[in-house]
Amino acid sequence: MKVCIIGDGLTSLALAKALINKDIIVDVIRSKKLKKINKTSTLGISKSNFQFFNKNIININKITWNIKKIKIYTENLKGKEVIQFSESNDQLFSILKNKNLLEQLDYELKRNKYFNYKKKNSYNGIIKLKYDLIINCDFNHEITKKFFSKKIVKNYKSIAFTTVIKHKKLSPNNTAIQIFTRKGPLAFLPISEVKTSIVYSIKNAEHLKELDILNLINKFNSKYEIEKIDKISKFNLNSISLRKYYENNILAFGDLLHKIHPLAGQGFNMSIRDIKDLLKIIQEKIELGLPLDSNVCDEFQDKTKSKNYFFSNGIDLVYEFFNLESRVQNRYLSSMLKFIGKNKTIKKYFKKFADVGLQV
Ligand SMILES: Cc1cc2nc3c(=O)[nH]c(=O)nc-3n(C[C@H](O)[C@H](O)[C@H](O)COP(=O)(O)OP(=O)(O)OC[C@H]3O[C@@H](n4cnc5c(N)ncnc54)[C@H](O)[C@@H]3O)c2cc1C
Repeated sequence: MKVCIIGDGLTSLALAKALINKDIIVDVIRSKKLKKINKTSTLGISKSNFQFFNKNIININKITWNIKKIKIYTENLKGKEVIQFSESNDQLFSILKNKNLLEQLDYELKRNKYFNYKKKNSYNGIIKLKYDLIINCDFNHEITKKFFSKKIVKNYKSIAFTTVIKHKKLSPNNTAIQIFTRKGPLAFLPISEVKTSIVYSIKNAEHLKELDILNLINKFNSKYEIEKIDKISKFNLNSISLRKYYENNILAFGDLLHKIHPLAGQGFNMSIRDIKDLLKIIQEKIELGLPLDSNVCDEFQDKTKSKNYFFSNGIDLVYEFFNLESRVQNRYLSSMLKFIGKNKTIKKYFKKFADVGLQV
C-alpha cells in the first residue's frame, strides 16, 4: 500500500509517521515548510491527544512541558479570576514548540525505509504514480485550487502576535493564563521554569507596532519578571471549513480541512483527532483485506465532517461570547461567567470538550 501526502507541515509529517507505523509506504511532497518554520510558535496538546501521539506516532515526552492549571480572567471583571481548571496529579495539557515537533518527526521519518521525501509534483505527475490514497495538506498546491476551493470562511479581522519571554525562574511554572482583554484574548503558556510563550490575538491590529504589543503584554503581565523577549511573529486569523472533504481518492487534511481561531489552542488537536479516525478506518480495511481507495475518504468524511463543523462552531461561539463580554459592560454576561466558573458540571464538560473534542 502506498500513500502520497502533499505538504510537509506538522499534520503531514505526523500523519506520515502514523501510517508508516502501520507498514504503509508514504511519500511526502515537500512544500518547504521545514526551512520556513517559525522558531517561537508553540502548541498546546490535550492530554488524550498527547497519549495518542506517544503511542501511535512518536514519543514526545522529552519535548513537552506539562500544564496542570488554567486560569481565565476578563479585563471587564478587573482582573478577577473567573474560571479555573486544574488537574492535581496529572497534566491538563502539554505545550511544545512547533519547531521541535517538526524536527523530531522529520528525524524519525528520514530513518524509516517506508518513507520518502519527493520534490514538488503536478496533479498529473502525482496521479501517474498510482497511489492508493493521496492526502493533501498543502494550501498552495494546484490540487487545492482544482478540488478544494469551496469553503465557509470567517475573517476575524484579527492578528495573532506570538513570542516567547525569558523570565526569572518560577517553580512550578505550570499554570496557563488566558485573559480576555477588550482587544482580544491573551494567553501565557509556560514552556519551562524560565520560559513562557505568549499568544495575543488582537482585533483591527494592522496599525500596531512591536512596541505597542510589548506595552500591552507588560500591562497584563502581573506574574513574570521578564528578562528577554523573542522577536514577535504575526498570523492573520480566519476560520475555514471545507465543504467537500475529498475527490476520488484525494482527501484534504489538516488546517486545509478546518482552521479555527487559536483562542482555545485546538487547531492541531482537531487534526490529531482526525488522524485517529483515519487510522481506525484504514486499520479496518487492512484487517478485512480491502484496498485503500475512495471508500476510505468517504468513510472519513462521514465520520468527521459534522463533528468537526460543530466543534469549530463551538470554538467560534466561545470567541463571540468573550468578544461580546469585552465590548459591553453587561452584568448578566459577567454573572453567567461567574456561574460557569463555580459550576462543577459545566466545567467538567468544558474540560472534556477541550480534551477529546465532540464524542459522536
Ligand atoms: C497563534 C496560533 C496559536 C495556535 N495554538 C495552537 C495550540 O495551542 N494548539 C493547537 O492544537 N493548535 C494551535 N494552533 C493551530 C495549529 O498551529 C495549526 O492547526 C497547525 O500548525 C496546522 O498544521 P498543518 O500542518 O495542518 O498546516 P500547515 O500546512 O503547516 O499550514 C499552517 C498554516 O499556514 C497557513 N497557510 C499556508 N498557506 C496558506 C494559503 N495559501 N492560504 C491560507 N492559509 C495558508 C494557514 O494559516 C495554515 O493554518 C495555533 C495557531 C495559531 C495561528
